[in-house]
Amino acid sequence: MNTQIKMFKKEKAAKISSEEVNALDKIEYPLMEDFYTIQGEGAHTGRPAYFIRTAGCDVNCWWCDVKESWDEEKHPRVKTKEIVKRAVDSGAKFAVITGGEPLLHNLEPLTVRLKQAGLETHIETSGSSPLSGQLDWITLSPKRFKKPLDEVFPYVDELKVVVLTNKDLAWAEENAKKCPPNTQLLLQPEWETPKSIPLIVDYVKKNPQWGISLQTHKFINVP
Ligand code: SF4
Repeated sequence: MNTQIKMFKKEKAAKISSEEVNALDKIEYPLMEDFYTIQGEGAHTGRPAYFIRTAGCDVNCWWCDVKESWDEEKHPRVKTKEIVKRAVDSGAKFAVITGGEPLLHNLEPLTVRLKQAGLETHIETSGSSPLSGQLDWITLSPKRFKKPLDEVFPYVDELKVVVLTNKDLAWAEENAKKCPPNTQLLLQPEWETPKSIPLIVDYVKKNPQWGISLQTHKFINVP
């Protein structure tokens, strides 16, 4: 199978030979954690989802709440076959691939095998590395510390911008201009910055094309 084919989105699970399946299953990813939980934020809030958190990130957000994900050498490498098996065994209907920055890795083997197993594939990314994989839903969470690549914008389903100050609202608009017209636009308060909440509420009321995303999993104490 040509792993360089850039299909990115909404491709049906490819019919591939057992030899090719075996080859994909052997591909390893540095994995910080994977678990079945509730999607707590964004457009799919409230849906049960299998989270796959790859390790490795080169974006360096100072407020990052998963800094332990940054160094991929500190995490085990796990075969695609094992990750997909765990996701299937969980009973989840969709998988969220997050990080770290998941696009530091070629996601085609993992996403192809997840889709063949019947799961939707979602990704949450800063968009700062090239797109890869077969993805049903792309959430772009752009970071000023390492900007998204222009090639990512045409594929974005959901733009979710973390807001601490007014500067982030300008950053959100700058990114929204590059997204397709039907992209869901969401502003999300940074968890440790409560003053961002009135800022966002006021902004969304004046600019109703935007909505608010809250990290609801933190309110109900699920990972
Ligand atoms: S892109 Fe995500 S994982 Fe990477 S530093 Fe920023 S918040 Fe943390």
